[in-house]
Amino acid sequence: MASSKEMCETCLFDTKNNEATLFCVDCNEPLCEGCGAVHRKQRLSRHHKVFDIGNAPPAEVLATLKELTACPNHATEEVEYVCREHDQLCCSKCANTVHRKCDHLETIADLMDKPNASDTKPIVVLGQFEDFAKKMKEHEDKHKKAIE
Ligand SMILES: [Zn+2]
Ligand SMILES: [Zn+2]
Ligand SMILES: [Zn+2]
Ligand SMILES: [Zn+2]
Repeated sequence: MASSKEMCETCLFDTKNNEATLFCVDCNEPLCEGCGAVHRKQRLSRHHKVFDIGNAPPAEVLATLKELTACPNHATEEVEYVCREHDQLCCSKCANTVHRKCDHLETIADLMDKPNASDTKPIVVLGQFEDFAKKMKEHEDKHKKAIE
């Protein structure tokens, strides 16, 4: 999978041929460096998990990631916000209902950008999936070595 050269799909729309170096697991789409940078900045895709293309975790790992990031109240929704008042992770549905009156809703993407993000509890959960991604990478590296 990761060994064959993938092209950036966004660039292909513009009939540009850029080799993809990144992979967005939310869009299930390969991205080049430039598009990846835009992808991480755009509001709609800011919270997407973009991996180096060689490190994109396999489907079963993504399923586990999805479990980790699923909204506790809406299994099909992914958490996008942190409510400081309730000290809870929540999805956009919750944000519009349960946390509608909460003043301290921040997007996870915003929090991740902050250097002090680690003092908030919900971020620990996010840290878990970063660790998880790291472990997956170690696992893959070992696997590769075993093949060689
Ligand atoms: Zn591109
Ligand atoms: Zn994406
Ligand atoms: Zn929810
Ligand atoms: Zn709240």
